[in-house]
Amino acid sequence: MSRRRVTILGSTGSIGVSTLSLFEQAGAQGSAEVEIVALTGGRNVELLAEQAKTWRPERVVIADESLYEPLKARLNGAGIPIAAGAEAVKEAAEMQADWVMSAIVGSAGLAPTLAAARTGAVIALANKESLVCAGPTLLETARQSGGQVIPVDSEHSAIFQSLQAACAHRVARLILTASGGPFREWSLQEMAGATPEQAVAHPNWSMGAKISIDSATMMNKGLEMIEAAYLFDTPAERIDVLVHPQSIIHSMVEYEDGSTLAQLGPPDMRAPIACAFAWPDRLPWPAPRLDLAAIGALTFSEPDAVRFPAIGIARSALTAGGLAPAAMNAANETAVAAFLDRRIGFLDIAATVSETLERMEARGELGAGAAGDILENAMSTDRSARRVAGDIVAGLGASQ
Ligand code: NAD
Ligand code: MG
Repeated sequence: MSRRRVTILGSTGSIGVSTLSLFEQAGAQGSAEVEIVALTGGRNVELLAEQAKTWRPERVVIADESLYEPLKARLNGAGIPIAAGAEAVKEAAEMQADWVMSAIVGSAGLAPTLAAARTGAVIALANKESLVCAGPTLLETARQSGGQVIPVDSEHSAIFQSLQAACAHRVARLILTASGGPFREWSLQEMAGATPEQAVAHPNWSMGAKISIDSATMMNKGLEMIEAAYLFDTPAERIDVLVHPQSIIHSMVEYEDGSTLAQLGPPDMRAPIACAFAWPDRLPWPAPRLDLAAIGALTFSEPDAVRFPAIGIARSALTAGGLAPAAMNAANETAVAAFLDRRIGFLDIAATVSETLERMEARGELGAGAAGDILENAMSTDRSARRVAGDIVAGLGASQ
């Protein structure tokens, strides 16, 4: 494989670190050669500086402007250009690169991901929230610029791979598998008292705090349903969720002739990242191998709609369309942050999202949006939903 120019948006996060770890391992084996164009982080100056010293990017950016001086101090004399702020992250995303890993968490990733999509680079997309907020626009932007969006989310990588084998117009169903998260077997009463520490302790995957909470509420699967609908142009009624606690089958595609294709692998995000990096080739790296005999059994069950209402909320938002998914996402980000801050309880997260959507719907704020800039519509809906959810959270916090 020839040397490729690579940018990592969100390099200090779980996916960013896994991406650099993959490059290091594949590089040591001589199967991947990368030149780092830009690395961006949110607040972790220490790790970002360390990554910059190791990888010598053409630019390093910290999103939090107040951390410019600390970053500069740590990289003093290293000769690496640095910048700070949201606009600087976007400018880094616009630098000429072959491949951009989009791994910022939340709708903060939308503007930089769109900027990268405009350059015609291959976008390895982990930042599912950007698709939920403005999926059709993002995909169309990549198409028009001659680029490509390759999913990194393990479920979508599985579906992407399972769709290659046969005709897309004969797909009957996409089946998203879900581990069920840490509360898969908890009662509602136990879930009501769940702490942030319990909620982030995912049984199979090690991930950032926000997506870990999303896995615990199963809103992660809700976001992924919307992500799949846009990526694979499939309506909500053809996307099902199946609980599979071992996280070995990453998702499946059922065809109209009754044949179902699945993609399997150990739960390690470097595998879907490697797939997105080398596609349509395959990257040799010291990957953990699947030992099915050691695993013994793969099990499946239906998700419980009562304990995990988030999947139903996301299905309704997807079916409603317009700005509902963007509002849902922003309300969820607000509620998850409040739960992590111990301002609301675990079950309040889904309740806040649902109440936000109801209030905005009642005020007619979730339609297709005024004609004009779709990104601006999505971002202004994002801001409104954060305000509405913030009010709801404040009310819940006061009553606790
Ligand atoms: P994380 O919290 O570990 O990392 C997020 C990254 O974004 C960090 O580099 C952080 O500094 C940066 N960031 C945070 N806020 C920012 C802001 N306002 N502006 C710019 N940068 C900011 O999260 P993660 O687990 O790596 O997840 C990243 C994305 O990938 C999420 O959208 C998540 O849903 C998705 N994803 C993650 C996994 C996983 O296994 N971790 C799996 C599938 C999808
Ligand atoms: Mg996933």
